[in-house]
Amino acid sequence: VREEAKSAPAPKAPRRTVKLTHPDRVYWPDDGVTKEGLADYYTEVWRHVAPHIVGRPLALLRAPEGIAGQSFFQKHAWKGVHSAIDLVADPADAGGQPLIAIHDLDGLIGLVQAGVLEIHPWGSTLADWEHPDLIVMDLDPGEGVPWEAVIEAATETADRLRKMGLAAFVKTSGGKGLHVVTPLKPKADWPAVKAFTRGLAEAMAADSPDRFVATITKSKRRGRILIDYLRNQRGMTAVAPYSTRARPGAAVSMPLAWDELGPGIGPAYFTVANAPTRLATLRSDPWDGFRAAAVPLPVAKSRRTKGS
Ligand code: ATP
Ligand code: MN
Ligand code: MN
Repeated sequence: VREEAKSAPAPKAPRRTVKLTHPDRVYWPDDGVTKEGLADYYTEVWRHVAPHIVGRPLALLRAPEGIAGQSFFQKHAWKGVHSAIDLVADPADAGGQPLIAIHDLDGLIGLVQAGVLEIHPWGSTLADWEHPDLIVMDLDPGEGVPWEAVIEAATETADRLRKMGLAAFVKTSGGKGLHVVTPLKPKADWPAVKAFTRGLAEAMAADSPDRFVATITKSKRRGRILIDYLRNQRGMTAVAPYSTRARPGAAVSMPLAWDELGPGIGPAYFTVANAPTRLATLRSDPWDGFRAAAVPLPVAKSRRTKGS
């Protein structure tokens, strides 16, 4: 058996053993994407998506009848969860409902089987729930904001992060905006990370009040971009890189290189249909080096005086 395995060609896709019921069920009717099509998509991008979704609590948008049917945003496990999926206990919620995590492709296909159309990981891992290992700055354009302005907002966000010694990566949301994502060494706790991101959002809004807002008040958002820092709280989530969106078009959230940002690539440009080809033809994943770029959150100036 071993010799056979040795001479066999390397498998193109990782092993997938979870069986789908109703593989022909249509999840995105206008785009002709079925349950099996979604499983095939995730199998093809597994290598890229795995580092972002394995070993973290996951909130999930489920729509078992597809995007035309009912959907629900689930933060906890449900009855009859597939055995390939992990149930995890939130250490801060002893006795509460378990949360969901996965550790391999079968777990992800188990999610597809359960009608999961969006995957929203926490910003911390099961190995260290209380210390986030990433920041997501979610840029939400209000009505009438041109795409160019969203790109400028992302660029400015990244510049400010870099000035503070942090790395910055960008992805489309698959919806209307961009997400600027920073890997962290998990040292600071959730309140510190939230305070840091709030400071960043408020500084941007203070410096360019005609362009940015940092509070979710709807009336203030027309013509401006909300710098939504509230993803960075314990138990809050943002959509994963390469996750599909339960919206018409079957778009996915796509990691980009900074120099790819431009009028040609809109927030929902990459889809289940064109993402695998993009990844297969790219020389390297634009987020290669994401984890390696992690540093601890810089210490806030007001706290630095005490004890150091
Ligand atoms: P867009 O670019 O269209 O803004 P987005 O994914 O950034 O796409 P937002 O509305 O800005 O969407 O962010 C909402 C985030 O809040 C989601 O990414 C998700 O992680 C989280 N969330 C919390 N509750 C819900 C819910 N009920 N339904 C959907 N998302 C929810
Ligand atoms: Mn958003
Ligand atoms: Mn938002």
